[in-house]
Amino acid sequence: MSYVTKSPWIIHYDGSSCNGCDIEVLACLTPMYDVERFGIINTGNPKHADIFLVTGSVNEQNINVVKQIYEQMPEPKVVVAIGICATSGGIFKECYNVMGGIDTVIPVDVYVPGCAARPEAIIDGVVKGLGVLAEKRAAMDQKPAAPAEAEEKEEA
Ligand code: SF4
Repeated sequence: MSYVTKSPWIIHYDGSSCNGCDIEVLACLTPMYDVERFGIINTGNPKHADIFLVTGSVNEQNINVVKQIYEQMPEPKVVVAIGICATSGGIFKECYNVMGGIDTVIPVDVYVPGCAARPEAIIDGVVKGLGVLAEKRAAMDQKPAAPAEAEEKEEA
């Protein structure tokens, strides 16, 4: 499996977490773990992001935000659910407004366990995401090119 073909840019969204997992995501960016040395950049713009890191569960307040961030990201893209809340709803699963994990709204490629997820596990999840990203990119490259717009107009 071809892993690294480019430096991945990530976008992080806190769905409804207790902030425990978010602190660990931020720890990955600090000098202790320093993921930027691997070319992993944290961006605030979904249009620049390859990997979507989500913490917390989905609820009625954030469902549209999660969807909109995902839809604005260019293909190929990968979603990493960080922590047990993002994976399944976790300890908030039975709350009146919690709908479940992130995969109730968008497809998730990598699940990172933990409460909170440790920085090492988050970095491992991103590296696994790189493999998925490379597979998706290869699949896109193998697809036949879409017909030119001009040809479509001629046929119409
Ligand atoms: S998994 Fe644990 S630490 Fe992470 S957001 Fe949920 S309750 Fe907080």
